[in-house]
Amino acid sequence: MRAVVKRERSPGAQVENVDRPSIGNGDVLVEMKRASICGTDVHIWYWNHWAEKRIKRLPMIFGHEACGEVVEVGEDVDSLEVGDLVSAETHMVDGTCYQCRTGRMHICRNMEILGVDTDGVFAEYIRLPEMNARKLPSYLDVSLGSLLEPLGNATFTVLPHNCADDIKDKNVVVTGCGPIGLMAIAVLKVLGARRIIATELAGDETRFNLAKRMGADLVLDAAMPYDELVKTVMDNTDGNGADVALEMSGAEPALHQAFDMLTPGGRVSILGLYSDPVTLDVNNAITFKSATVYGITGRRMFETWDEMNKILKDEDFRAKLSSILSHTLPIRDIAQGMEMIRTRQSAKVSLVPEW
Ligand code: NAD
Ligand code: ZN
Repeated sequence: MRAVVKRERSPGAQVENVDRPSIGNGDVLVEMKRASICGTDVHIWYWNHWAEKRIKRLPMIFGHEACGEVVEVGEDVDSLEVGDLVSAETHMVDGTCYQCRTGRMHICRNMEILGVDTDGVFAEYIRLPEMNARKLPSYLDVSLGSLLEPLGNATFTVLPHNCADDIKDKNVVVTGCGPIGLMAIAVLKVLGARRIIATELAGDETRFNLAKRMGADLVLDAAMPYDELVKTVMDNTDGNGADVALEMSGAEPALHQAFDMLTPGGRVSILGLYSDPVTLDVNNAITFKSATVYGITGRRMFETWDEMNKILKDEDFRAKLSSILSHTLPIRDIAQGMEMIRTRQSAKVSLVPEW
């Protein structure tokens, strides 16, 4: 089969012929129909500091956002059959550790991540454990199907537990309008948030406009003076501050703002990943505010998938999601896709398996 293979601990990768993966009794083989590029893939492609530290095994096939058709099922697989369209849950878990046994598989202690620890999806065929191949509801096509992994991050950030009632009629701040922040805004809108205020660095008209298109009532320039930014949020929330703040930028100033913009007793969900350790005034940010803080990693398995599938029934939501996918390229032009994301010409690039 053809696959995008990373061989060297340096920028780039190339399309090569490699063996098709063989599947175990509990696995399915999926023919990739659509993949999309995530920020992590850009790190691996350009081989930054994170990739140097994180990627253990080369050569590897990378990529982890994908949707495809089941073409082979292992002997023990009973929930899927040949012909099913599936989307990949990327957290591959052992199912036996303390976390897995207590309903928290997304934080499995022996987790492997598809396309990071194992061979990924920028390939003609992908091996997935049965549990990781999530059947697409009939109302989704393959291009939206390839977005369910990041949409799951967004949905989990909005709904860290079963708490849709915490969103309805509430004021919410979203710091960072990358693809996942954008998706979160659209999710908030479906759930009936009262006012959605987003922040993003000015100069990126595409992300500003997309934030509005997703349903943000106000999109603020994150580069505004700190106090002015916080005051604008206060002024737009009856002087109270946000009930919920979602930190989706991975920028330290935005983390501080998320807490400063929060009303006492509010909730912060942190998805953003910071390149260095950050400092936080815990007394004032969390303790005296009696704030609730959630760390978000991956998606709850599989409550988040169920919540997402419900939200995706909304036709307007699906149209919004499609508009984040600004460019579609044949996978042979993957280098161009990586560059489009790196230079921010596109928030999300979709790859068609044309080799
Ligand atoms: P992204 O980098 O495309 O988006 C981040 C956005 O934040 C960018 O548009 C950037 O311009 C903006 N930004 C930068 N500084 C800002 C500031 N001070 N205030 C407001 N906005 C600012 O990333 P993404 O793919 O949308 O992911 C969002 C974050 O979540 C990243 O930090 C990513 O590493 C992290 N992430 C975490 C998980 C997880 O499981 N925890 C999974 C995927 C991604
Ligand atoms: Zn486990």
